[in-house]
Amino acid sequence: MISKIIAEDLISKVENAIDAVDKITIVVHVGPDGDAMGSSLALWHYLMTIEKDPIIIVPTEYPNFLSWMPGIEQVLVYENDKEKCDDIFEKTELIFTLDFNVPSRMAKMEHAVINSPAPKILVDHHLHPGDYAQIAISYPEISSTSELIFRLICRMGDFSKINIACAECIYTGMMTDTGGFTYNSNKAEIYSIIFELIKLGVDKDDIYRKVFNNYSADRMRLMGYALHKKMKLYPEYQTALITLSLKELEEFNFQNGDAEGLVNMPLSINGVVFSVFMREDSDKIKISLRSQGSFPANKVSADLFNGGGHLNAAGGESYSTMAVAVKKFEDNLADYKDFL
Ligand code: 5GP
Ligand code: MN
Repeated sequence: MISKIIAEDLISKVENAIDAVDKITIVVHVGPDGDAMGSSLALWHYLMTIEKDPIIIVPTEYPNFLSWMPGIEQVLVYENDKEKCDDIFEKTELIFTLDFNVPSRMAKMEHAVINSPAPKILVDHHLHPGDYAQIAISYPEISSTSELIFRLICRMGDFSKINIACAECIYTGMMTDTGGFTYNSNKAEIYSIIFELIKLGVDKDDIYRKVFNNYSADRMRLMGYALHKKMKLYPEYQTALITLSLKELEEFNFQNGDAEGLVNMPLSINGVVFSVFMREDSDKIKISLRSQGSFPANKVSADLFNGGGHLNAAGGESYSTMAVAVKKFEDNLADYKDFL
């Protein structure tokens, strides 16, 4: 028996909100990851089985290694189809916002969603949820939004409506947000849920292969280059930093998702507990931070890079040059020595 995490009054509010409408839209954060796509597609499959006809809109492209996910061909990408998506946001009657806490995480899609007259339902596991949603299912102790979607569907009495496609999407989100169950994954109930998903027919080994063993040769060479030539270690702070410029990324034919997982790699070095990866983008530096134990990656990100996230996995941005972002990082690293 899986415990009841989501409050009872929230369950009935969501049920009533779904029952009351025909036009439902599901949105996620910019740069959607496995949990964003997993949770939105799982909800989409579920809503299809109860004869709603929802639409998923993502702010920017999802990575290629998720393109096998069932239902993903239906997903609209806001940056590629702005007019059509704006029209949907004007007419939709209910919006689920999944896997992010504050509207700015939708980047250029933020205004269209927030200005939509439709009520919003937040389902998320990040700290500090914003107050834009009429119904907020926010449980930071849960390791993925996809797990919350499973719990939500079950609590609405619809476990039997979880088909194999829905189960695969839930599993993908649970797996990717825990690095293949290597962090944030000590809660026993995660495995009770996986037990149910496997009984529904999920082939977990196949999903692992499709997500983690599905990269291009260029991406593998980029990893080699980054680790060999671009990784800087700060032994006194048990920290590693990797930076990649646009020019370097272009040399390796960088595609969306190609840098996925790179930030985790230095954590496998004995003694390294904090790893940071800065990637130059067309208009900003995207920063990923990962830590082990009690070292607060999210605090560093919030303090230095307008970001946030989880204790061990956080992200942020810098609108300066790479050199300035690196200097800011190095100048402030000593402030976090007490967390080591
Ligand atoms: P990633 O490094 O995979 O892009 O992000 C890791 C986690 O950090 C995400 O799950 C999200 O919680 C958080 N995150 C990433 N980018 C940002 C950002 O720009 N702002 C905030 N507040 N959180 C972010
Ligand atoms: Mn997530």
